[in-house]
Amino acid sequence: ETRTEAPGSFRVFTPAMEQESLRKRQLKRDLADALGRSELELAFQPIVRTADGTIAAAETLLRWNHPEQGRIPPAEFIPLAEESGLIAPIGAWVLRQACAAACRWPETVGLSVNVSPRQIELADLPALVRDVLEATGLAPRRLHLEITETVLVSRNRHYLATLHRLRELGVRLVLDDFGTGYSSLAQLDAFRFDAMKIDQSFLRRIRAETDETPILNAIVGMATAIRMPITVEGVETQVQLNHVRRLGAACVQGFYFGQPVNEAGMRGLLARGVPASR
Ligand code: C2E
Ligand code: MG
Ligand code: MG
Ligand code: MG
Repeated sequence: ETRTEAPGSFRVFTPAMEQESLRKRQLKRDLADALGRSELELAFQPIVRTADGTIAAAETLLRWNHPEQGRIPPAEFIPLAEESGLIAPIGAWVLRQACAAACRWPETVGLSVNVSPRQIELADLPALVRDVLEATGLAPRRLHLEITETVLVSRNRHYLATLHRLRELGVRLVLDDFGTGYSSLAQLDAFRFDAMKIDQSFLRRIRAETDETPILNAIVGMATAIRMPITVEGVETQVQLNHVRRLGAACVQGFYFGQPVNEAGMRGLLARGVPASR
């Protein structure tokens, strides 16, 4: 089957692509029922202080247990939720559950929640955040909203205004996955985020103590110059942890401290500390 795109160009649909698009459509339909059927659940991953190995915060990571297909990764279903608009109710559910969970943690521990820019288009995010903070009693400064796709910050007034309204609520705004995708240096001037997270791709090249990451070094140097606290994502080995320590990043996150855990697991980590943090 062929489908015309623009005049003079066409795209061939192979059987594999056809299957993939069928699967996507089916998943999109299933996702509509996932909340009602309690198929969604939260996982948490500690964000660890480089200096002493204590837990500064935990990031909320959404999980979907599909009845037939098992766990579907968020990289697959979040884009579908964004396309269909389901990200609005799903995102609201995540925020409520996560804030309720964090209220059972020590008050010094922050809570990171990922926010899709689509949520800003579809819903009144500041109103939702205000309601959830009121309902759960979580201190606003403990809530860190992680935002990735900030390509529109400097161009889109509504987006920028929303970030300012969120900030007025007292929550912290964190630029996620810095160094990839749409993030750019111009964003740092358009809106001053409270912190940023460096994408895990930079650490992948560190295998031995002697390996270098010139770009990562430059990013950390720049963040330090503008006094922006940073978290480096994707620490999987002691060698990578040592490397990030030398760079002087405030916090790290990664499988080295374990896979993301459920809420009970998170409370266990908060009580006993993360393993292998020295
Ligand atoms: P993210 O916000 O950058 O989250 C970090 C991702 O890196 C998580 O993947 C986490 O499990 C993974 N990760 C952590 N440490 C390591 C490591 O040492 N090595 C490697 N290879 N990976 C590591 P996950 O849970 O699959 O989530 C993927 C993305 O899906 C997230 O990236 C975020 O953009 C999105 N996402 C997850 N939950 C939500 C949510 O509730 N709402 C929205 N809007 N997006 C979400
Ligand atoms: Mg994140
Ligand atoms: Mg990230
Ligand atoms: Mg990411």
